[in-house]
Amino acid sequence: MYDVIIVGGGPAGATAGIYSARKNLKTLLITKDFVGQTGLTGIIENWPGEKEITGPELMSKFEKHLRSYSIDIKEEKVLSLEKGFKIKTESEEYLSRSVIIVSGRKSRELGVPGEKDFIGKGVVYCTTCDAPLFKGKRVIVVGGGNAGFESAIELTDHAAEVLLFEVSPVITADEILQKKAKEKGVKVFKEREIKELRGSTFLEEVDYEESGKIETVKADGLFVQIGSLPISDIARGLVEFNESGEIITNARCETKTRGLFAAGDVTDVPYKQIVIAAGEGAKAALSMYDYLKDA
Ligand SMILES: Cc1cc2nc3c(=O)[nH]c(=O)nc-3n(C[C@H](O)[C@H](O)[C@H](O)COP(=O)(O)OP(=O)(O)OC[C@H]3O[C@@H](n4cnc5c(N)ncnc54)[C@H](O)[C@@H]3O)c2cc1C
Repeated sequence: MYDVIIVGGGPAGATAGIYSARKNLKTLLITKDFVGQTGLTGIIENWPGEKEITGPELMSKFEKHLRSYSIDIKEEKVLSLEKGFKIKTESEEYLSRSVIIVSGRKSRELGVPGEKDFIGKGVVYCTTCDAPLFKGKRVIVVGGGNAGFESAIELTDHAAEVLLFEVSPVITADEILQKKAKEKGVKVFKEREIKELRGSTFLEEVDYEESGKIETVKADGLFVQIGSLPISDIARGLVEFNESGEIITNARCETKTRGLFAAGDVTDVPYKQIVIAAGEGAKAALSMYDYLKDA
């Protein structure tokens, strides 16, 4: 029986793990990976103490710090969580007096025909991971927010031609990013909706709708940057969700089930940022410690 099981190894999970270990609690951290969203980020310029650091570097520092304590760490996927608490993974079952869910978010998909067929064969959700594979190619970025523009700017260092499609008439990316994209030659199109992806083995053509007509454009890569969804399924039945599927927590990271805490991007905490996720992870662990003292 553990004192606490932490689900997730991003900034929130790693920090919760460090705080739990420093309270001498019997701690198990289960995570699919130590990558999370931060590990998929190129350069980070707003983590205090590091003027500039890459996402993978920062995550490897978090992991090293976490592993310097004597806590149990399992790299596997949590499949379910039952009140009490019982956690099932792909290979085992674990019992714990408390649980902290810090499972973060995943990219939203377009949901169009062909998308799943070309994942890894032209359809990409992580620009930093895959941009170098598109050297000299023509690529489309989908999404006119900051993520879409950052992705398009990064791609101009590799691809021969970068198009950006936004479905609505409004570009929401910061002005500074729009200016940089223009300088780097990104071609921006509004009111273009992706309809279907086609090709033999790899992506070759993209159908889109513009002004009520279906048009086709040749493309080797399609970078989907249309936001993200919380990975909150395992908490179903034990917590309340907001309309975005985020776990509702109070100021102490408590959920509606006693002993079950949540922190970071999976929750309804405003502003999804590394420093906030780490802070919330610390708060969840301290709150969990207070709960165990009184339980
Ligand atoms: C492209 C991009 C760029 C960004 N740039 C910045 C930036 O410059 N500065 C900044 O402050 N923020 C940035 N962010 C936001 C920042 O990455 C997040 O706020 C932060 O990573 C949230 O941390 P987290 O620990 O809550 O979740 P995550 O980082 O998402 O980590 C969640 C962890 O849980 C694991 N997990 C999920 N489900 C399970 C399961 N069922 N079983 C086991 N493990 C599971 C995942 O594998 C992962 O390791 C960026 C995000 C993106 C997507």
